[in-house]
Formats: sequence, C-alpha cells, structure tokens
Amino acid sequence: MMTRRTLLSGVSAAPLAGAGTIGSIARAGGGYIDPRKVLLWESTRKEFREALEGGSLKAVVVPTGSTEQHNEHLAMIHDTASVTLVAQQAALRVWPAAMVATPVAVGISPHWMDRKGTLSLKKETFLAVVFDICESLKTHGVSRILVLNGHGGNVSPLREAVPEFASKLGIRILFHSYWDAYTAADRKNMTSGVVPGHSAEFETSFAMAAFPERIHWEGVDYEKIKGQLQIRDPKSARDEEQFAKDAHLASTAKGETMIAIAVEWTAARLREMIA
Ligand SMILES: [Zn+2]
Repeated sequence: MMTRRTLLSGVSAAPLAGAGTIGSIARAGGGYIDPRKVLLWESTRKEFREALEGGSLKAVVVPTGSTEQHNEHLAMIHDTASVTLVAQQAALRVWPAAMVATPVAVGISPHWMDRKGTLSLKKETFLAVVFDICESLKTHGVSRILVLNGHGGNVSPLREAVPEFASKLGIRILFHSYWDAYTAADRKNMTSGVVPGHSAEFETSFAMAAFPERIHWEGVDYEKIKGQLQIRDPKSARDEEQFAKDAHLASTAKGETMIAIAVEWTAARLREMIA
C-alpha cells in the first residue's frame, strides 16, 4: 500500500516518508529503513564510501525527468518527482544494494516551449549531463547504473546514447522509463487506457497518490482559457484538450496501483542487475 509522500522535499532535507510508509519500506530489509539512506544527495561522503567500499552498494539509479508545463493543474516538476519517487522506493526494496543519484531535473522539452514555464535542454546538453553523472559514479567505483526516465522527450535520445555511455565507460548501464513496467493489462487500470500521456489520467492519478500538494485545481477552467493558449500545433492543442478532460478520470487508488507496479518492476530490474 503506497502512502502519501512528498518527493523533492528530500532536496530540502525534509523527511521524505513519514511513519505511514514504514509498512511499504519494511519489505526491503525486514525493518524500518531511513529513506534518506538510498538518496546519494542526502548521504554523507562517509556513508557513501563505506557502502561502496564495504561492498553492500552494488548499483546506482540515475533518474531523468523534466521541468515542463503539465497543463493547468499539475506542478512542472511532475516528471522528475514521479521518477525519483519510483527510483527511491525501488532502491529501498533492495537496500542496501542500491542508491539513487541526484535526479536530472531538466530534460529535452522543445515541444512544450510554446507553453509558459517549460525549461528545456538541448539534446547534446542533456546527454552530456547524464554522461557526466555516470562518469562521476564510475570514477568512485560504481559499475552498475540504471538510468531511469520519467519524461517522454528524453526517451529516444537516451535509448540511443546509453549503450554508447556503457561502452565508453566500460561499465554496465541500463536504460528504462519507469512506465516500461506496465503491461497491456496494467494499462487497463486507466479508464482512458492512456499511459503515460501528459498531465492526463495517469500522471494526475500518480500525483494524487504520491504528492497531492503538487495538484492545483483552484481556478482552473480549461474551456475558458483554451482560446488564449497560443499553442502552435493544432494536433498538440487537440491532444492537450483531451488530456485536460481525461485528468478528471484520475483517482488516488489508480495512482497507488500504478506506482506499486512501477516500483516492484524497477526493483526487479535492480535485482537482475546486482545478481
Ligand atoms: Zn509528465
């Protein structure tokens, strides 16, 4: 059972998971594990060094997300927050064998630049950042990395580049988007059938389950605003309007179901990696 948790609050060192999450964390090691323990950026150099040199730490997850418009009602950090949550929960399942590196919080989003607030990296810039993080980890002795993605625009560049990163660095690097977890049957949990979509039923359900404080319906009136949005591509405008409607199909229960599937699937990938 997943419970409400705030994600990037971890960056400001607020507790990532409260007492309510202990049940879901317990499976990783039979007792309560401080969720901070799997977050590289919340660890001290002593903790990281000891885990690595002691041989308990075998793999690191590098989450890649975006900072981009998520229609009128979701926070722009959604992709980064969702993938980091899946990464953290999966790492806790295999603790102490995996940790999560600092997420890449800006992705490749040129297709959303006609919506205000989107930040986008050029493909080369983004890939260079991901490579440099992997190289840093390799320098410290990490030999297994899972690049786990949560933003659609990053998919094909990473799919192409990650095998090259692996051969260049001479270590094992895998790439997946967390929604690779979902089978056709899992997708049927969505009334719209659309996974991941964009700010629609799936992502809104995810946010309701994981970080409802990142959903802001107050004052949102898509019908009223749509004529003023200046979206260049008519198909993109039509898709967005449908997604805005589908967002109302979201529920906390759907989000909990889908998060649990993604977490278990990602943990299974980590287990294969470290076996
Ligand atoms: Zn998104």
